[in-house]
Order: sequence, then C-alpha cells, then structure tokens
Amino acid sequence: MSTLSEDERDIVALAGEFVDERVRPRVRDYESVDKYPAEFIEEMKKMGFFGLLAPAEHGGADVSAACFARVTEELARGWMSLAGAIGGHSVITYLIRAFGTPDQRERYLPPMADGTLRATMALTEPGGGSDLQAMRTHAVADGDDLLITGSKTWISNARHSGLIGLLCVTDQDARPAHQGMSVLLVEPGEGLHISKNLPKLGYRGVEACELVFDRMRVPASAVLGGAPNEGWAQMMRGLEVGRIQVAARAVGVAQAALDDAVTYAQERESFGKPIWKHQSVGNLLADMATKVQAARLLTEDAARRLDEGVRADMEAGMAKLFASEAAMQVALDAMRVHGGYGFSKEFEVERYFRDAPLMILGEGTNEIQRNVIAAQLIARNPIN
Ligand SMILES: Cc1cc2nc3c(=O)[nH]c(=O)nc-3n(C[C@H](O)[C@H](O)[C@H](O)COP(=O)(O)OP(=O)(O)OC[C@H]3O[C@@H](n4cnc5c(N)ncnc54)[C@H](O)[C@@H]3O)c2cc1C
Repeated sequence: MSTLSEDERDIVALAGEFVDERVRPRVRDYESVDKYPAEFIEEMKKMGFFGLLAPAEHGGADVSAACFARVTEELARGWMSLAGAIGGHSVITYLIRAFGTPDQRERYLPPMADGTLRATMALTEPGGGSDLQAMRTHAVADGDDLLITGSKTWISNARHSGLIGLLCVTDQDARPAHQGMSVLLVEPGEGLHISKNLPKLGYRGVEACELVFDRMRVPASAVLGGAPNEGWAQMMRGLEVGRIQVAARAVGVAQAALDDAVTYAQERESFGKPIWKHQSVGNLLADMATKVQAARLLTEDAARRLDEGVRADMEAGMAKLFASEAAMQVALDAMRVHGGYGFSKEFEVERYFRDAPLMILGEGTNEIQRNVIAAQLIARNPIN
C-alpha cells in the first residue's frame, strides 16, 4: 500500500468503502439466487473501475498494476464475482493498449474505460483449456474478411460483453502451432451463438457461457495489432495481468474469511472463554493471517514487476499459485473456526468456500502455473 501514489490510495479506499457500505450488506440478495448484480456493475462503472488499466488520454484511470491488484482485492473481499466482472475486461484493455493499432485504441479504449463497452477474453475450448496450442477455433481469409469457426467454453461475462478478445488459429499449417495464432477483437453479431449460462458452484451472479462461431464474418482489421499470427505472445503477456488479477481475487476472498473468523472467534465462547483463547483456534487464526499477508505480498511483487515492464510470468504464476491455495485453505479454516455455523447459509463463510476453488482452476490451473514457474526457473538459471 505504501508504494501506491496518493491518488491510487484514494481509489483503493473508494473500493473498500463501496464494498463495506454497498456490497457486503446486499451480496446475499444476488448470490443466493444467482442474480446478475446490475446495480453494483453500474456503480463500478461510475467509479471508473472498468477503466483502471486504460490510458488517461482515453479516459482511463491509468493506475499501476499494484493499484489494480489492490482494487481487485477489495472488490473480492466483498464478492469475488464483482472482481471477476473486471477481470477479462482489464486483460483485453491491457492488450489493446499495449498492442492495438491506433484505430483499435481509438475505437475501443474510451468506451471500455467508462464501462459502456465491456470485454471478455475467450481462450478455453470444450476440448481443453490447458493445452491451448491444440485449440481448434480458427479464422480463414474470405476476401477482405475473416470467417471464424469453432467454439469456446466457460467464457465469463459473455452476455454482457460487447467485445470478445478471441484467441484462435489463423495459420493452420504453422509449427509450432502457437506461431499461427491471433487475437481477434470480435464484436458479437451474426454467426455467433451464446449458450445459456453454465451452472456453477460459486462465482455466481455473473455468467459463464459457451460461444459457438458458425462462419462468423469479421473484417481483417479485427486482428489485434493489425498483423496476424502474433496472438500467442500477446495473450501470454495479457495472462500475466490476468494471473495477478486472479491472485488478488484470492487475497480478497481469504481476507474476508480471515476477518469473519477473527470476529467470530471473539464473540463465540466455549468452556467459559472466547474460542480464540483456545490455543488450537488461536493457532488457526495466526496461520490464516500469515498466509493472507504472504499472498498479498507475492501479488504486489508480481504487480510491481509488471509495472517495471519486465517479464513477470514466473512471479504472476507464483502469486496465483500461492494465493489461490492459501484462499482455499483459509476459507476452510474459517469454516472450522465457525464450527457448524460455518456450514450454514446464515454466514458468509460457506460462500468463500465455494468461490475459492475457481482461483485454483481459472486463468491456467495451478498445475500449469507450476509448469510455467519451473520452466522460467530453469531459463533464468541455466548451468550452461
Ligand atoms: C467459472 C469459470 C470461468 C471461466 N472463465 C473463463 C474465461 O472467461 N475465458 C476463458 O478462456 N476460460 C475461462 N475459464 C476456463 C478455465 O480457464 C479452464 O477451465 C482452465 O484453464 C482449465 O482448462 P480445462 O477445464 O479444459 O481443464 P483441462 O485442461 O482439461 O485440465 C484437466 C486437469 O489436467 C491438468 N493438466 C492438463 N494439462 C496438464 C499439464 N501439461 N501438466 C499438468 N497438469 C495438466 C489440469 O491442471 C487439470 O487438473 C473459466 C472456467 C470457469 C470454471
């Protein structure tokens, strides 16, 4: 927090107030019935949360990745789904900002900054999300256009997005396959079918859907940056932002679980004293607090590296791996502290426990993060 500018600290504080005053008192009204949180999203637009990573010249807040992570954490402390609503959107903002043509930047960044245009990213396919190089969705030239065929699944915020950052194959003969991939900036229209919302354990309120592209026609100018077959490297850079965002979501969920456990452990008594005074419960709280802080610092470290403009895939992977596993454990331990009430819908703890696993699976599973970390570890420390 100390490394943020004064303006950035104000933005984080604004997110915290929004969560405490608006979100936490009402989250159950939406979450329990899986209702889209339209009013929260509108408020988030007004507060500029969809434009955190957009450049100031295009109306964005243009904050550091470290500030973006802290705002994400605050939103997730209230409800992880709200942090998810700015997740893919912010990755695509970052990609257009970093790699977009002047026309793409002019067309998309201003409405993305104020949230009137929301974006999602589409990588995962029904046949697999980890092995992205085996993806089948492809686009072929047809005159001045491209025709897209294939399907993507688990695409968050699909119905509410006016722009899809689609990773697909544009050169089917390229070997290795990643050299023949592009990111297409696709505006939903004829030829795109969006399935009904996929039912899920947590991360409720915001939808995840399957997208089917049936020879969907887009102009060749939809290729991010204008030149095809650059998409893999572009998206890998975007995923550094995405993984820092997922790590920050995990920190927020873990912090919420810790806060609730600390409160409950002082209110609840057994054997004539508050339960935190039983050493087993006190130790649980101590370990939970330590994990949350370690996860936050790893996330901040990865974000700082991104802000310095250097490769951050190992650090983002470490943050995402550690923070998500910590969030799952802290959510479970918060349930232990609450005893039987932790299992009850009367308390928020069961929601943290349902939301935490997504951070283990999403934005590349933790097994994939370990592969990324190990590969970078060796690449940065070769013995010859
Ligand atoms: C609620 C939700 C929202 C999502 N939102 C989006 C979104 O907006 N956009 C998007 O593109 N995707 C999204 N996803 C998809 C998510 O990123 C994928 O589910 C994830 O990447 C894993 O892919 P998979 O489900 O196909 O699992 P698989 O790739 O089939 O993996 C299955 C298992 O095998 C393991 N595994 C696979 N390969 C390896 C390997 N090489 N080494 C070690 N272990 C391996 C995995 O770790 C996992 O344990 C979302 C998913 C969910 C559940």
